Amino acid sequence: MKIAVLPGDGIGPEIVAQAVRVIEVLRGDGLNFEMEPGLMGGCAVDATGEPFPEATRRLVKDADAILLGAVGGPQYDSLPRPQRPERGLLDIRKSLNLFANLRPAVLYPELANASTLKPEVVAGLDILIVRELTGDIYFGEPRGIEMREGQRVGFNTMIYSESEIRRIAHIAFQAAQKRDRKLCSVDKMNVLECTQLWREVVIETSSEYPDVELTHMLVDNAAMQLVRNPRQFDVIVTGNIFGDILSDEASMLTGSIGMLPSASLDENNKGLYEPIHGSAPDIAGKDVANPLATILSLAMMMRYTFSQESISKRIEMAVKKVLSQGYRTSDIYESGMRRVGTAGMGDAVLANL
Ligand code: NAD
Repeated sequence: MKIAVLPGDGIGPEIVAQAVRVIEVLRGDGLNFEMEPGLMGGCAVDATGEPFPEATRRLVKDADAILLGAVGGPQYDSLPRPQRPERGLLDIRKSLNLFANLRPAVLYPELANASTLKPEVVAGLDILIVRELTGDIYFGEPRGIEMREGQRVGFNTMIYSESEIRRIAHIAFQAAQKRDRKLCSVDKMNVLECTQLWREVVIETSSEYPDVELTHMLVDNAAMQLVRNPRQFDVIVTGNIFGDILSDEASMLTGSIGMLPSASLDENNKGLYEPIHGSAPDIAGKDVANPLATILSLAMMMRYTFSQESISKRIEMAVKKVLSQGYRTSDIYESGMRRVGTAGMGDAVLANL
């Protein structure tokens, strides 16, 4: 089981170091993980001139899973687009064909006050958003801005083939089977033919998953239901643009950006695992960043790439225990709790593992 480890920039190296400590404990328990580090993002630009250099390309191609911290920083914002760290992220997703983005939004009861919604609406929230990542209006052709009849016109193309819809539907149904077996497919089939096909193909695919309850919702209603009664959802599957917006909305229900992991998978469950937050240059190198999103990303890796459900649960339970024992990094701190830094939080997770 080979893991490519790409710490990246800003707080990336600090938070990834804590996840690596967890992998080392698992190795000590006899699990055969190989880890190999690589350069990605701004640090790769500094060393090689490119955000996703050839050596890292080979490393991630060869690996079963990739653990990424975060990339970017203000010192790289003035570089030409192909050299920006964020470009490396787009390239890695594209080159590995990571079409399925899984983003859980979990609100631990202990952190219910971190949300801007009332605790009774969000306490115990546990949603998984499955977003298609390589198609839709973000990639569809034709696209552009051109002159028509004396004025500028901007246009994009929303497009999905049935095979693209079917493969993301399979991922979502299978994820639902590992959870509460409820899947809500979000579309806009009342006005967009592209998403009418989406609904038809999701319904066709559902015949292979009789144990999963499938419902459908229009995207405008889904945006509303996420803040009205978010606990009605278990797994949500949707296209690229709707998923982009809804997954950010859902993650903010939890109020704690340092707690949320993500996975991006290909057809064979090879995956890139990373926290949803960025490189947080404002707190880099200060030992205050919350490493739990990265550690929870590792738990997702165990579940989705390595099919090690019990290890995944073990990591998630350790995180839950740490929170119930009152350990808090600054981003989730409330008075009366035990404030710890990045490494201190790592110590607490290890002690509970
Ligand atoms: P950010 O997510 O890095 O930070 C937003 C705020 O959240 C900051 O106040 C930061 O201190 C805080 N924060 C983030 N992660 C935290 C953690 N683990 N613990 C405690 N606090 C945390 O977003 P930004 O400031 O908009 O972006 C900074 C850089 O990161 C930019 O260069 C951006 O392009 C890049 N970025 C990278 C990724 C990625 O690598 N996937 C994602 C988003 C942004």
